[in-house]
Amino acid sequence: MNRIRYVLLIFGIGFSLNAQNYLWPTDASQYMTSTFGESRSNHFHAGIDIKTWAREGYRVFAIDSGWVEQVEIAFLGTGRTLLIQLADGRKVYFAHLSKFAPWIQKYIEEEQKRTGRFCVKLQFEPWALPVSKGQLVAYTGDTGAGPPHLHFEIWDSEGNPIHPFTVGLRIEDHVRPIIRALAITPLRHTAHVEGDFDTQIFTPMRLGPGKYILKKPIKIWGEIGFSISAFDKADIVPHALACYAFSLSVDGKEIFSSKYDYFPKSLFRQISLDRDERLHWNHKGQFKKLYNDQNIEIPFYRPSRWGAGILCGGMSPFEEGKEAKKTIALEPGEHPFCIQVSDYFGNTSEVSGTVQVVPLASLVNENPIRFRGQGWTGGIPGKMEIPQPHFENKFFSDYLYFYFRFARPLPEVPQCEITLNGWTQTEVALIPKSPQEFVGILPLDPGSNGNFFTTLSFSSEIGQESTFRDTLMVYFISPEYGGSMVSSDGICRIVFPPGSVYRPVWGTLRSRACNLRSPGLGKEYWIDPPDIPLKEPITVCFDVGSYTGENPKVSIYGIQGTQWPRFMESRWENHVLQAQTNRLFRFTVLMDTMPPRVWGIHPLRNAKLGNPPSQIRVRFADSLSGIREESQYEIRLDEIPLLVDYNPERSMAIGSVSESISSGKHVLKICVKDRVGNQTQIEQPFFILSK
Ligand SMILES: [Zn+2]
Repeated sequence: MNRIRYVLLIFGIGFSLNAQNYLWPTDASQYMTSTFGESRSNHFHAGIDIKTWAREGYRVFAIDSGWVEQVEIAFLGTGRTLLIQLADGRKVYFAHLSKFAPWIQKYIEEEQKRTGRFCVKLQFEPWALPVSKGQLVAYTGDTGAGPPHLHFEIWDSEGNPIHPFTVGLRIEDHVRPIIRALAITPLRHTAHVEGDFDTQIFTPMRLGPGKYILKKPIKIWGEIGFSISAFDKADIVPHALACYAFSLSVDGKEIFSSKYDYFPKSLFRQISLDRDERLHWNHKGQFKKLYNDQNIEIPFYRPSRWGAGILCGGMSPFEEGKEAKKTIALEPGEHPFCIQVSDYFGNTSEVSGTVQVVPLASLVNENPIRFRGQGWTGGIPGKMEIPQPHFENKFFSDYLYFYFRFARPLPEVPQCEITLNGWTQTEVALIPKSPQEFVGILPLDPGSNGNFFTTLSFSSEIGQESTFRDTLMVYFISPEYGGSMVSSDGICRIVFPPGSVYRPVWGTLRSRACNLRSPGLGKEYWIDPPDIPLKEPITVCFDVGSYTGENPKVSIYGIQGTQWPRFMESRWENHVLQAQTNRLFRFTVLMDTMPPRVWGIHPLRNAKLGNPPSQIRVRFADSLSGIREESQYEIRLDEIPLLVDYNPERSMAIGSVSESISSGKHVLKICVKDRVGNQTQIEQPFFILSK
C-alpha cells in the first residue's frame, strides 16, 4: 500500500489508490517470460508474458468483475484478443488467445457469418456481456506473433498500461538482477569521457552477490549521461527479464531514478527516449538511459524533466531551450557514484565507481609525452608512404566526431582542417588514442549546414607528407521548422516536418549498394545518425519516376539488420515515390512482380475421398509486398467462399467445411494477391465417392 501511494504521489497518476485483490489471470503458470516495460524493437512491452510451456489451451480468467468490451481476431501481431472493462475503471487485455469461452465465441461466429470474414472485431455495450471474478473467458494460444504464451495487460482508466504487479499480482522472484555493463555518453561538444568524445562502455567486476565495482576512476568533463545494461532473473524460468527500478547516486546523494510502474500510451513507441538506441543499433546491448536528454517530460523518471540525470563536470551548466534543461554540476576532482538496479520485489544489485572530473586539456598535455616517450615509431625501413587511414564520422548531440586509424604508427599527431561550403576554415584538434588512432570533434550550430570538406595532413617517420580528403554533406533539422536531407546522388530525400524532432539534429543521408535479389534501385539510403528520436513521422521520397514511370508495383521498403525488406505503403506524386515512417530504417526501392506462392493444398488434386473433409488446408506466402489483410485471399469451395483462418507465421490457411457435402466432383478455387496486386489463382478438383 505504502509503496503504491508513494509512487502515485511522485508521478501524480489518476488511477485508484487501492491495490485490488485481483486473481492471477490463468492456470497456465505463474511464471513470466517477459515483463512490463521491456524494450521491444520499436515499442515498450505494455504487459507481461505468462509462460504456457510451449502449449495452447490453458484457461484464462477474468481477474475481477466487469464486462467484455471488445473481442478481436486480428490478422497479425496480437492474434485473438479480449478486452475486459473492470468495474473499478481499469481494463484488462489478453492477446495470442487460441479461442474464446463459448458464450463469447457465439458472437464471433455470428459476426463472421454476417461479414463473411474470419478476422472480426466486436465492441459491446457496457454490461451487455458481464463477467464475474474468476469466470473463464478464453484459452491461451499461439495466434499472432511469437511462440505460445499469454500476453496480459492492465490499463488505467485513461488507457495507459500499468505494471500488473503494482495492483497486487505476483510471481516468485528471489533472484537479484545481473549487471552487465555501464556506458557513459558525452552529451555536448564540451564534454569528454576518458579523453574520447564517443560513448565509452565499462564492464564492472563482480565482488559478490549483487555487488559490482569499477576500480579505475573514469575521467570525465562537461555534460555526460550514464546508461546501464542489466537484466533480471526470476525463480525457475531461464528468461532474462527487464529490471523494474534504477537509481543513480553521486557523492552519496540520489540524483536520478526511474521506475517502470506505468507509461503513458503516448510514449508507447518512444523507446529511443529510454534506451541508448545507438548502442542497440551497434549490437552492444540494451542500455537503459539514466538521464533525459530530450525536450520532453518522461513521467517514469524522477525528476521527469529535460536534463534529469545529466552530470555537468567542471563547467557551469549550459542552458538550452525555453524551459531550460537542468543538469547537476560537479566540481573538478573525484566523485564516487553508485547505480542500483532492482526488480519489483526489491531484489537489488549495485555497481559503484568513481568519476574524476578532469579537463580535456590536461589529458591532451599528458598524451604527447606518452606518445613520443614509448618509442612507437615502428616504421618499416625503406617504406616511406603511409597508407590512407580508415576514417569515420559520427554525429553526436551538437558535434561531429572524427576518427582516423592508420595501418602504421605515426610519429606525430596529424593536422585536421575542415572547410565549410568552400570558405569557413576550422581546425579540429586531434587527440591520439594510440600512435595509430586519432579522434577529434567539430562543434555544430544551426549554421552548420552544407558541405564539410576534411583535409588531413600526416607525415611518415622520415618526413614524407601525405594527405587524406573527405567530403560530407551536413544537414541541420530544427525542432521548430523541420528540414530535409538529400543523398549525394540526389535520388533520395527525407523530409522532417516542423515538430518531428525533440531537439536540434545534425546528420547526413548516406547510401551504399544493396545486394537484395529482388529487382530495384540497387542502393540503400539511411539517415546518419540512425538513432534520432522522432516525435512525428517523416517522409521518405525517391526521385525514380523517370526510370520506372509511376509503376504501382514499385514501392519503398525499409531494411533492418538481416530481416526481409519491409513494405512501406508508398504513393506517387509527380514521379516521386513517397512514404511516411516513424522508424529510421535503411530505405530502398524495389519492384515486386512476383505473385504469391501457393502450395500444400488439401485435399490433393483429383483426390478420391471416402468421407467429406472437415477441413480444407492451403499454404501460401508472398515475399516482398506481402499478405497483411484477409481481403488479399479467398478460398472457394464450389464457388462458395469459405471462412479461412490464416496463420502468417506458418503460411497456413485452414478453412472449415461445416455442412456435409454431397458425393461427386468438387472444385477448390484459391486466389491470393500481394499488396501491389500480383495474383495467383489455382483451381483444384477432388471427388467424394458415393457410399
Ligand atoms: Zn507480450
